[in-house]
Amino acid sequence: MESDVCSIYLFDEKDDQLVLRATRGLKPDSVGKVRLSLGEGITGSALKELRPIREAHAEKNPHFKSIPGIDEEKYRSFLAVPIKRGLSRIGVMVLQHRRADYFTIEDTRAIQAIASHLAATLENAEILMELHRVDYGPEKERGAVEPIHGTVSSAGIAIGTAVGIRTVGEGGESVGYDTTSEAREAYESALGKTRSQLERLQNEAGDRLADVASLIFSSHLLMLKDGSFTGKMQSKIDDGVSPGQAVRAVVHEYVTLFSRSTNPRVREKTQDVEDLGHRILRNLEGAADADGDYRGQIVVARNIFPSELLKIALQHVEGVVLNEGGVTAHISILARSLEVPLILVGESNLSEIPDGTLLVLDGEHGMVFVHPSEELIERYSEILATRTRVLATPAAIPDRTATADAVPIEVHANINILRDVEHAIHVKAEGIGLYRSEFPFIVRNDFPSEEEQYRIYRRIVKEMNGKEVTLRTLDVGGDKLLPNDSNNESNPFLGLRGIRFSLSHPDIFRDQLRAMLRAGAGTRLRIMLPMVSSKDEFLATRELIRECSEQLSSDGVAHNTSPELGTMIELPAAVEAAETLAATSDFLSIGTNDLVMYLLAVDRTNEHVGKMYKHHHPSVLHALKRIVAAARANDKDVSICGDAASDESLFPFLVGIGLRKFSVEPRNVPVLKREVLKIDTREASKTAEKLLSFTTIREIETYLNI
Ligand code: PEP
Ligand code: MG
Repeated sequence: MESDVCSIYLFDEKDDQLVLRATRGLKPDSVGKVRLSLGEGITGSALKELRPIREAHAEKNPHFKSIPGIDEEKYRSFLAVPIKRGLSRIGVMVLQHRRADYFTIEDTRAIQAIASHLAATLENAEILMELHRVDYGPEKERGAVEPIHGTVSSAGIAIGTAVGIRTVGEGGESVGYDTTSEAREAYESALGKTRSQLERLQNEAGDRLADVASLIFSSHLLMLKDGSFTGKMQSKIDDGVSPGQAVRAVVHEYVTLFSRSTNPRVREKTQDVEDLGHRILRNLEGAADADGDYRGQIVVARNIFPSELLKIALQHVEGVVLNEGGVTAHISILARSLEVPLILVGESNLSEIPDGTLLVLDGEHGMVFVHPSEELIERYSEILATRTRVLATPAAIPDRTATADAVPIEVHANINILRDVEHAIHVKAEGIGLYRSEFPFIVRNDFPSEEEQYRIYRRIVKEMNGKEVTLRTLDVGGDKLLPNDSNNESNPFLGLRGIRFSLSHPDIFRDQLRAMLRAGAGTRLRIMLPMVSSKDEFLATRELIRECSEQLSSDGVAHNTSPELGTMIELPAAVEAAETLAATSDFLSIGTNDLVMYLLAVDRTNEHVGKMYKHHHPSVLHALKRIVAAARANDKDVSICGDAASDESLFPFLVGIGLRKFSVEPRNVPVLKREVLKIDTREASKTAEKLLSFTTIREIETYLNI
């Protein structure tokens, strides 16, 4: 509305006063100082009467009052709209303009709509502020412990009881049977229930998770059908052993067998055996939660496989707490895609959380509350409910964004699994800046064929409906382990990772490249290579793509014959070769997650050096500037897709060095789009220059106020 002033006042119920909390147009130092009582001035009256007041000549309103710091007399038009939830007073949104009769009745309606959205957000913020103002005093009095502090790996809030990843454990029989045939009947009925639960789960994995969840419960179902597994249980029951004991005995036998295997894939299956045994036992006992899912539960474990995380997510787990040493980058990324809150805590803290303990997991601030009070649970439940409402409203997100000085900046999304595409579209991402193609390889039991990969990639391309899509080739190695990986590298981060893995497994690579080329038929296609350390790797891949394309042509298969081929800059070697790589590649994308780690030689999960992992380290800033300059000098598209792209404190620097394309997790797209609208590129350039002039981390942190 281009008003001269836009201010937000919040109502402090304790003092019965409205306090100016944010303004654009009034003097910034009036924030927190200007206070009005209920009914005072036009603003106070709007809240008291809980109705909007629109004045063409403010000075004529009987409530008009000249308040120091507000300069009401300067602004003739006045629009005050109460922010309320039901009848409860939250605050007032005030617009002012020098010109008389400026605001219209439509403006009033628009501001009312905004105020009602704001009400939900503010209420949420108030609860959070309140929560963090609490000194936990009352909790202590009741003997509750302080929250365990941890690292947020996947944001979100969860409330539930702690459970370990399931094992059948020891235990007696809770149900007795008079005859063997009764016992056998009960056992068979439990098997039947187990089978139908697993089939239902497998179907539920269905459409949206098909890329990663294909056959995820297949080993459970196979074992159920396998005569030696269930048959052994049956013959024990026929010999008079109780069904529960029979299940436990056979499960233990198989767990021992599997865990001794030299094949890591078989060892990984021990958990499936335990899980299956647990499910049969619960069904035997006719337990109320016999659906066997993890609703209302928070899994607490030392570590977890990607496939297990997917399984518990499908079974509606509320959240997960893991040992910080046991987590790979891909577990965090997957948890975020599956929207499972995940917090990492120290090894010693894990033992403070026995099974059955009630927990509140604050995956915004990295806190785990053990034995929370009812009041705390209530507050977090409210936050959860409000969050769900607020997330459902993407209307305010602009389709395209430009800076305050009208320079267009694109905000794309990073996606990991098919389900993320929907989310990316929902938040109006302008394209997919990074599709991490490794998830179907890492999570599934089987290796996806060319055809299956084609179907996944094609679906992404189709659903994005002409918007730019960048498919990254397989990035495995390091801590992104393939399930059947028996390569015991002593230093996997300096081993067969990313493009090196692909080039040394040409059959796997060809399948993937063919699938990508086919998915790009009739549309623009961008393929991006991870972990490139030399131009040679780029050229070798280009040659392989040429061969694949020739082969597809001679087979008469429709495909994209001229994909754009891009290089990720995430190794120091690539920074040193930035000019060469920019000249050779069709586009560059900066992967700061790895770049920062390799440039600074810091593992962010290592407690001794984790704090040294800094996106704003002077060497990182200079490297970023060099990469962007190299791309621009060669007139090549360049984007940034590591986590630094959503670091708000670094954003002016990134814009200042000339970055115009960002790719971030879908949940960060709206936030970044809002930042774009606020920034001015000329000021950003000055900020970048200033930051590049500093030689120490300390100066940079002081300047950035972090
Ligand atoms: C990166 O390294 O910044 C990146 C985007 O790739 P990934 O996080 O998949 O390693
Ligand atoms: Mg990377």
